[in-house]
Amino acid sequence: MYAQVIVDIAHSQVDRIFEYSCPDGLNAGSRVKVPFGGRVIEGFVISVSDRCSIDPAKVKPIAGVFDEVPALVPECLSLVERISERFRTPKAAALRLFVPSEMRLGKVSEAYKTFVIPKNTDYAFPKSAKKQAEAAAYLKEHGECELTPLCEKFGRSAVNALRDKGVAEFERREVSRVPFSDEEGKEQPKQLTPAQEAAITNIESSSKRVQLIHGVTGSGKTEIYLNLIADRIKAGKTAIFLVPEISLTPQMLSQLRARFKGAAAILHSGLSAGERFDEWRRLRSGEAKIAIGARSAVFAPLQNIGVIIIDEEHDGSYVSESAPRYNTADIALWRAEYNDCKLVLGSATPSVESYLKALDGEYNLIKLPERINKKPLPEIIIADMRKEVKRGNNSAFSYALREELSKTLSDGNQAIIFLNRRGYSHTVICRDCGYVCKCGNCDVSLAYHSEENCLKCHYCGARYKMPTSCPECGGRRLHYGGTGTQKVVSDLKTLFPAARIIRMDNDTVSGKDGHYKILNAFKRREADILVGTQMIAKGHDFPSVTLVGILDADMSLHFSDYRSGERTFQLITQVAGRSGRAGQKGKVVLQTYSPENIILRYAVAYDYEGFFGNEAQIRKATRFPPYSLVCRVMVTSEDEKKALEALKSVYFSIEELRTLEPDSFIFMNRMHSPIKRIQGKYRYQVLMRLDDGRLLGKIYDIAAKNTSSSVLCYVEENPANLS
Ligand code: ADP
Ligand code: ZN
Repeated sequence: MYAQVIVDIAHSQVDRIFEYSCPDGLNAGSRVKVPFGGRVIEGFVISVSDRCSIDPAKVKPIAGVFDEVPALVPECLSLVERISERFRTPKAAALRLFVPSEMRLGKVSEAYKTFVIPKNTDYAFPKSAKKQAEAAAYLKEHGECELTPLCEKFGRSAVNALRDKGVAEFERREVSRVPFSDEEGKEQPKQLTPAQEAAITNIESSSKRVQLIHGVTGSGKTEIYLNLIADRIKAGKTAIFLVPEISLTPQMLSQLRARFKGAAAILHSGLSAGERFDEWRRLRSGEAKIAIGARSAVFAPLQNIGVIIIDEEHDGSYVSESAPRYNTADIALWRAEYNDCKLVLGSATPSVESYLKALDGEYNLIKLPERINKKPLPEIIIADMRKEVKRGNNSAFSYALREELSKTLSDGNQAIIFLNRRGYSHTVICRDCGYVCKCGNCDVSLAYHSEENCLKCHYCGARYKMPTSCPECGGRRLHYGGTGTQKVVSDLKTLFPAARIIRMDNDTVSGKDGHYKILNAFKRREADILVGTQMIAKGHDFPSVTLVGILDADMSLHFSDYRSGERTFQLITQVAGRSGRAGQKGKVVLQTYSPENIILRYAVAYDYEGFFGNEAQIRKATRFPPYSLVCRVMVTSEDEKKALEALKSVYFSIEELRTLEPDSFIFMNRMHSPIKRIQGKYRYQVLMRLDDGRLLGKIYDIAAKNTSSSVLCYVEENPANLS
């Protein structure tokens, strides 16, 4: 037999099939070791046949097979071609998406634990071996233990000595590391409301592949998803459930665990390598049937998929920002087609693109305009910060917000304060000479972090000592500009000394359950105020929160991106949606310097249709997506001269294209990227708006042609982030 193999080298030069002879019974989808260019490397078997296309005498045998069960499901093999073509990525890179990185390159992480089993615990230890005697006594009392915690208690050498003296035996056993396994969850399925029933019937009876649920925050979308999943599981099928942020998954997982027990598996980058690997294997073996996670869970090794759900479909995290730059919804749609199942998108603020498709009849649109039990949406009060400044209030809190906060606290309720900026201050500026502290690797100002008393770069993570005087002029009047979450907390402590405050941002969450701990503490009411970045904006359901403060609604509004209006509307709606979800009426205070802004007006009125109508009209008139395609070719290099040369070459090649097909180009320009340097790499770009995707293939080719060992050129389509 012969195996057609893609070697695991993601390079265009070896991006083709190589043939090897193999034993009978080898399955397509297996990972194998193969001799390649004098080495033995890993490869994926794409297909197996009894014929080969080259001289059989020259065919080398494969050098080994990795797994008993092929790592790749048949569907994946059929998708790889499509992914590699659509996102212009080598097939090996497309294949890698489907297997956990721990599995590749022989880094299969341990699925074993070592246990220490007591044998002869009455052994007479000499006086000098005190630790050993203690460890033996412990074993005698507790019985068999895990090796690692035992070593932490008594020291590795003492525990080893027990084994050497026959006091105990070590045994390695396979274990499954199930993340959040202590999260039992007691939630029972709920009696569906008529609106939820109707939504499910609507989805089930629709003949369309893609279903878009537009349901206001708190309309009970989760329960609809869970019912759809339960239904498919009952029918013997599987399901994929995607949520945007890892901070959301634990909460969602506890609901899924309560409902589906071990049938739910979680896949996300925050897990330990071992946990991720084990969860993946549980899905691959069929033990688990529901994959839940962030965007990479769309590649879950499931077969016979009955439904794919993308919650908060508008979220930017569904677009991969590193190669392969795939869009999760595209992959989900292909998988839905392959499995002939539905793709369900849900959001309180669908992306303009998806909503347009729904209005055009491509997607089935399901509307849930009311919250569960007809609870009103929280009232949004606009605080005009220009007036506050005029009245002499230079703090980050308007009078309205302070008043509402104090009411909320005295009523014994909870509040959320949202500010999308971490650290203490955004910039440190010298009041005498105007010097701004900047990162040495990136063209951005450094944020001051009060807890560590240092400056941090939010792009490369570099830390710097906080200067005591201006490095430029020696002046001592350093000013902290742009309030961040740390300063908000310290100001709140001054304003409300009795309030218990927790902060949630990238600096406070660490480890795989960092989010979880903070959110749970807040849910258990161990704090009165939660201050956080966009991490706290989505999905969370805190019954006692009756006030949300949005400190700076303008921050995203004035971003130079065609989607800044859409983003702002989404953000306000999502954050506001955290308020008043249970018994009591909620309020939101929205602070802004542009209270007359139309986007804010729509957001305050919860008028998605109004917002959409306005936005779609502008996009159509100015020809922005979805009425065109934004395409950016990024040119980055540590060597600025080389970057500029490559930029010119890219630009002229595209210019040639434009001469041939002038009508395809709506706009084209070459320039510095908004952030000129990140991590020591200069960044230039050719920014275009194209009529459609016809020329993309040629543009990808141009980028590839100009990539060298010192310059990286890559293409982004409708990038979520234009910085
Ligand atoms: P969404 O995802 O649309 O924002 P959720 O799914 O979080 O809304 O639901 C909002 C709240 O309503 C949650 O507290 C949820 O437990 C509750 N809920 C959902 N469906 C029902 C139902 N059928 N009966 C009672 N409560 C429900
Ligand atoms: Zn930096």
